Parts: sequence; structure tokens; C-alpha cells
Amino acid sequence: MERHNPETIGVRRTGWAALDRDPQLDTVEFHCPHCGHRDQKNARRERTQYHFTDGFMQDLQGEVTQCHSCKRYLRVVPIVLLHDQDETRRFAAVFADETLAVAG
Ligand SMILES: [Zn+2]
Repeated sequence: MERHNPETIGVRRTGWAALDRDPQLDTVEFHCPHCGHRDQKNARRERTQYHFTDGFMQDLQGEVTQCHSCKRYLRVVPIVLLHDQDETRRFAAVFADETLAVAG
């Protein structure tokens, strides 16, 4: 694994923000910075490792993963925890340049 992986922002939706999918799943959604594939991974880090930053609960350490499409490594950082539709909309406004379009 390369030490310096390209970074992409991730979203971890919980509770009311995740009503459109199985609530038992705890996943981080992201876009691959290599190929643009929309992918997801199982969230691995405890929520206690998330800290309130810029108005959101964020994991600023992130997680390294491998794209399911192009098989290249990347770091998902920061990972933003979203609890409801209000936060989801606020996130979409704040991170509009970050290419990750959050549905809803
Ligand atoms: Zn990829």
C-alpha cells in the first residue's frame, strides 16, 4: 500500500439521515478520487473518535480503503457524520465543492 493515498471526503449517515437504506448497515459513502466511482465501505471507527469541527461531527483521521471498481487505494478523510435531513442539507451546502452529491 502506498503511504500517500489520494483523499476524498466521506459521509457516514445515521438515524434519520439513513432512512432510505437498511439502518443496520453502518457505512461510509464516498466517491473514488481515481475513477469517480461511487463507493461505500463499512464504517470502522467508533463514533467517539469523531469530533465537532466546522459545525459537523467529523473523523479527521479518516480510513484507508480500496475502491471496488478500480482496486486502487485511497483515504476517506474527513468522514462527516450526518444524523438527519437538516444536517444532510447543511452538509451539501457547506461541502458543495467537494463533488459528493448527497441525495435528499
Ligand atoms: Zn476507483
